[in-house]
Amino acid sequence: MTKIDDVLLELNRSVNTYMKSIPIFQYNNAPYRLIDNYSASPYVRCDVCGCYPVTVVSVLEGSDSRKLRLCNQCIDILAGQRISECFNVFRAKRQNILFNRKLIDQLSLMLDDNIHADTNLQLKKSEFKDLQKILKHLCDGQNLTSSQIQLVDNYLQA
Ligand SMILES: [Zn+2]
Repeated sequence: MTKIDDVLLELNRSVNTYMKSIPIFQYNNAPYRLIDNYSASPYVRCDVCGCYPVTVVSVLEGSDSRKLRLCNQCIDILAGQRISECFNVFRAKRQNILFNRKLIDQLSLMLDDNIHADTNLQLKKSEFKDLQKILKHLCDGQNLTSSQIQLVDNYLQA
């Protein structure tokens, strides 16, 4: 398993943990729980307010396994919290991670090699720390600053 697989698995875990932390909803006097949230393709109609097209869907499941597909507005109102925003953050992180997947794997290999000291390219302690910090940023799905990108480019081309 490469670093990128680890990172994506970890992100999926935190999405699941977040989803499980959301309490049961009441809708039409019946209990529902949130079981999924995804970008809809093709678009769907919201089962609660009827709006169309819904591009991001939250799926609720009732005790009788009946499923409801909700738009962002309805899920936030029903839950009484900004659930859609949290999922947007998760989605943006995943996109950034996927965009930087090559860099994450390269950087993590390079830092691993340096820990094992079996490479010609020996990093100074401070450089090593900087690069570790950058890798952590990338794995957390954040974008890099231009100076961080420059630093990484210098090492990966060396
Ligand atoms: Zn709706």
